[in-house]
Amino acid sequence: MKTSECIQKSEQYLLHTYNRAPVVWERGEGVRLYDADGKEYLDFAAGIAVYALGYGNPAYREALKDQIDKIIHTSNLYYNVPQAEAAEKLVKASGMSKVFFTNSGTEAIEGAIKAARKYAYLRDGSTDHEIIAMRQSFHGRSLGALSVTGNDHYQEPFKPLIGGIRFADFNDLDSVKAQVTDKTCAIILETVQGEGGIFPGTREFLEGIRKLCDERDILMILDEIQCGMGRTGSMFAWQEYGVKPDIMTCAKALGCGIPVGAFVLNEKTAEHSLVPGDHGTTYGGNPLACRAVSTVFDLFESLEIVEHVRKITPYLEQKLEGLVQKYDCFSGRRGKGLMQGLMVEGRPVGEIVGNALKNGLVIISAENNVLRLVPPLIIKEKDVDEMAEKLEASL
Ligand SMILES: *Cc1c(COP(=O)(O)O)cnc(C)c1O
Repeated sequence: MKTSECIQKSEQYLLHTYNRAPVVWERGEGVRLYDADGKEYLDFAAGIAVYALGYGNPAYREALKDQIDKIIHTSNLYYNVPQAEAAEKLVKASGMSKVFFTNSGTEAIEGAIKAARKYAYLRDGSTDHEIIAMRQSFHGRSLGALSVTGNDHYQEPFKPLIGGIRFADFNDLDSVKAQVTDKTCAIILETVQGEGGIFPGTREFLEGIRKLCDERDILMILDEIQCGMGRTGSMFAWQEYGVKPDIMTCAKALGCGIPVGAFVLNEKTAEHSLVPGDHGTTYGGNPLACRAVSTVFDLFESLEIVEHVRKITPYLEQKLEGLVQKYDCFSGRRGKGLMQGLMVEGRPVGEIVGNALKNGLVIISAENNVLRLVPPLIIKEKDVDEMAEKLEASL
C-alpha cells in the first residue's frame, strides 16, 4: 500500500482522535525508522518512550517468536511460566513485593487507585476517601486515570469523573500539605512529569511527600510509566531519590513494544488491599506480554542499559545546553537521563517537530512549548551528534 493510500484509508476508517504526521512507518532497525517510501529517520521518540532497546533486537525478537509458537494467551484462571518469571524480575528490580500485570499504563493507574482505596477502606470502613494528584500531571485516558490527570482540557467534556480528587502543585510540598485531610488515602505523582513538560521532581519534594505519607498512613503512588525502566539513569527514577513508593505503576518500556503495564505494591499495601474478586483482567500479563517483560529485564542486564544511560547522559545534556546557548528559540533545558525537554520560545513547537521529520529526525513535543527527547536507550554519541545537526537544520 502506498503512503497516500494508507493515509487516505486511515482517515476514512479510523476515528479521528489523533492529528497524525503524514508518515507511514514500515520497519525499524536499532535507532532508525524507515517509512513506506524507504526514507531513513533517526528516532528520538521511541514510540513515546517505549522502544528502550531500539528496533529489532535479535534476542527480543527470537523470544517473542518462540513464545508465539508455544502459547500466546491462557487467562489468569491458570498459571503460566513467563508471568511468574516477569513478576519475579520486576519485584527484584524494584525491591517491592507483588505485581499485577495490565495491558496499558492507564489500566495500571486504575489498579493503583483501587488498591489505595481498598487499603483505606480496610483501615476505617468508610467509602469517601480522597486522593491528592498534581497539576500538569498525566496518568492516562480512562476515567479513573483521567480523574487524577491535572489537565482541564483533557477532563472537561468527560465530567463527572471519579470523586474525591484534590489537586496540588508539583514540587510544592506546602500546596500538597494544604490538600491533606483525614480522608486522604493516597498521593499520586510522576517521579518525573512527562506529558506535562518534562519536570523532574526535586529531592526535597519527594522526600517531603514520603515523610507526609508515613506520618499520616497515606499511600505514596509513583507513576513510573514514562520515566521508569532505565530512562533516567536508574531502573526506576525514584531509586535515585532515596525514597520508595507504596505503589508504583509501569508500562511503556516495560514490554518494549508489546502492550503491557503493571502496578507493583510494597508488602504493607499488598497484604492489606486487593484480594480475589476485587480486580481482574482477561489479557493482562498473558504469556506473550510477560515473555516480552521477562526478556526486557534480561536484556537490560546483559546489555548494561542503565549503566549506558548514565554514561551517555552528560554528552546529550552538553549538546542540548549548546543548542540553548546558540539559539534564541530555546530558553532552557530540563530533564533527567534520556528524558529531556528543550523549552521553546517564540515559535510553535509543532513547526520544529514537523521540520525535523522532513529532515529525517523523529522527535515529539510535551505540553505546547517543550521539545521532548525520549530516544531508545541504546543511542550512541554519534546519534546524539546527528540529532543535534538535524535539529539545527530544522530551526
Ligand atoms: C503514557 C503514560 C500513561 C498512560 O499510559 P497508556 O499506556 O497510554 O495508557 C500514564 N502515565 C504516564 C506518566 C504516562 O507517560
